[in-house]
Amino acid sequence: MNPERVEELTQNIKEIKHNLDEKTATKLELDKYIRSIQRLDSYSSECEECQKYSVELENHFEYMLSNVHQLTKEDYKIHNKQTRQVTSHLQHTHQLTSENFYMMAFISIGNGLGLPLGLLLFDNLVLGMLMGMCIGIAIGAGLDGNAKKKGKLI
Ligand SMILES: [Zn+2]
Repeated sequence: MNPERVEELTQNIKEIKHNLDEKTATKLELDKYIRSIQRLDSYSSECEECQKYSVELENHFEYMLSNVHQLTKEDYKIHNKQTRQVTSHLQHTHQLTSENFYMMAFISIGNGLGLPLGLLLFDNLVLGMLMGMCIGIAIGAGLDGNAKKKGKLI
């Protein structure tokens, strides 16, 4: 994409954000989209899929903007599907992570391990769960921080 198109697409998303209430804008992950578009653009010279997604997003957000006051459930569904596809491509092909990706993953691992361990060691489910969660947060935050430092965050 040439810089003007990237800029126009970014402006469209900001315009959509401006027209929606904050809760909806957050739910649609519009800020993340602005970052994703920069990523897609930077990879699109060597990655056909990034190129394809850039074009898809241009059309998608043009539609969203022109219908911003009458978006339907179906539109949100399509939007979420689009988000999942783009995020998963960036994660799997370009090794990027989303914000708090490791944190979420390790909290659930910590919980899962903490429960049986808590029962086994302290005869206390809640204590085990809490410990698991704390360890999960510590590891997850470290890995998230590392990804951010390396510029691997979407
Ligand atoms: Zn790509």
